[in-house]
Amino acid sequence: MSDTLGLKEPIVILGGGIAGLAVAHYLKEAGYTATVFEAAEVPGGVTRSFRWHGFTCDVACHRFFSPHPGILNEVKKVAPLFKTIRRSQIMLRGRVLKDPISPPELVMRMPPALSARLVSGYLFHRRVPDTNFDNYVHNRYGPGLNDLFFKPYTEKMFGIPAREVSTEWGEQKVRVSGLIDVIKQNTKIYFRYFHYPPSGGFGTIAEGLHACIGDQLHLNSRIVGIGHNGERITAVHVDQEGKEMEIVPGTVISTLPITNLGTFLDYEVPLSFRPIQIAYLLIGKERVTRNHWVYFGDADIHINRLGEFKNFVSDGVPTGKTVLAAEITMETGDAIREAIAGCERYGLIRADDVLDAMVVREKYAYPIYEGGYMDRLASAKSHFARFKNLFLVGRSALFHHAEIDDNFLGAKQLVEQLLERT
Ligand SMILES: Cc1cc2nc3c(=O)[nH]c(=O)nc-3n(C[C@H](O)[C@H](O)[C@H](O)COP(=O)(O)OP(=O)(O)OC[C@H]3O[C@@H](n4cnc5c(N)ncnc54)[C@H](O)[C@@H]3O)c2cc1C
Repeated sequence: MSDTLGLKEPIVILGGGIAGLAVAHYLKEAGYTATVFEAAEVPGGVTRSFRWHGFTCDVACHRFFSPHPGILNEVKKVAPLFKTIRRSQIMLRGRVLKDPISPPELVMRMPPALSARLVSGYLFHRRVPDTNFDNYVHNRYGPGLNDLFFKPYTEKMFGIPAREVSTEWGEQKVRVSGLIDVIKQNTKIYFRYFHYPPSGGFGTIAEGLHACIGDQLHLNSRIVGIGHNGERITAVHVDQEGKEMEIVPGTVISTLPITNLGTFLDYEVPLSFRPIQIAYLLIGKERVTRNHWVYFGDADIHINRLGEFKNFVSDGVPTGKTVLAAEITMETGDAIREAIAGCERYGLIRADDVLDAMVVREKYAYPIYEGGYMDRLASAKSHFARFKNLFLVGRSALFHHAEIDDNFLGAKQLVEQLLERT
């Protein structure tokens, strides 16, 4: 971000999710001590795990896959991971389908009129300008497949019409150019296997990083203000369990949502995030599915994805019960009721199978890739670049649908760049 400064101590990292922890870890490896301030009482942000009814639960479903060479080994240095073959399916129009979506299967299994629309739409669709997600998918798959799956799923996730979603989303998440590409495997979207910790849930990775940096991480420490002189960050104000303190930083690395950083620096960032509610259901059955997760494509079912933790790691978990995590991006309404209703519709559970339920909310789950967001993001980044000792890293800080491996890579690259300049 800055074009003049390298590392200057004290180094302050805002946020103790994976990105903040990974930066502190790489800095420590390079001989620098950073202080990480995390508002929550546990590290890891969205990647944390927690215990519930004897099960280890993650925040939504998390799994590790990386196309970046070497990053898997970097992560394995901080937490053990085992490799497992992905098991996932798609629920759509009352049918249980293969994942990734297979057009030949759709044609075989959907009602004849819909199948005919899928085929004729693919073969004969009129091309439209690639100006938004809707058009992007239409041009590559035809209107049939777009209307059946991609459009409703994307609209559920972002809460805006597919025509208002940027083509970048299509490029990142629908990275195929024709039907034949759909069966390609082992890209970030169509990976056949993934890695996962053998015990302790996905949060083991954040805990491993915490173990590496030790007391450099301060939990229950919320950033409440940032002072600046127009060119540099001059103060970071932290509330530690009711006591406020001021730190005069040499270097500040922010993993806070870019909109929050803007608020602290008196700059309104015109971007928004889609929150998520994760409804956890304790079910009185040994298992509900054999899948790690299933997607729900129907527009009128509010679940986007449903995970079953027992299918990630089954050693040492209670028998006769299982926990489901339903990811719901609907912003109003009762997430638990919607989760149960969606599962019932597909015959997965009955309401009286539910022994207990709870909801976890994450406010900054998905950066909304609305048309034009790239320009607005570039303006915000160039505004923050004026602060020569401020650097941004992480998913919400960079407003990018980054995964864990991207955050490790981003943290490593940032530290390398800072060291080069220092
Ligand atoms: C539903 C969902 C599913 C996902 N699934 C996967 C997956 O399967 N695999 C994968 O690799 N990635 C997955 N991801 C992405 C992954 O979770 C993120 O890339 C990663 O968690 C981002 O880490 P981060 O450190 O950038 O952000 P965060 O985890 O958001 O960390 C930011 C931290 O800053 C803290 N903070 C915020 N404000 C303050 C403040 N004022 N003061 C102090 N601290 C503050 C927060 O508490 C948080 O801990 C998923 C994301 C979501 C939302």
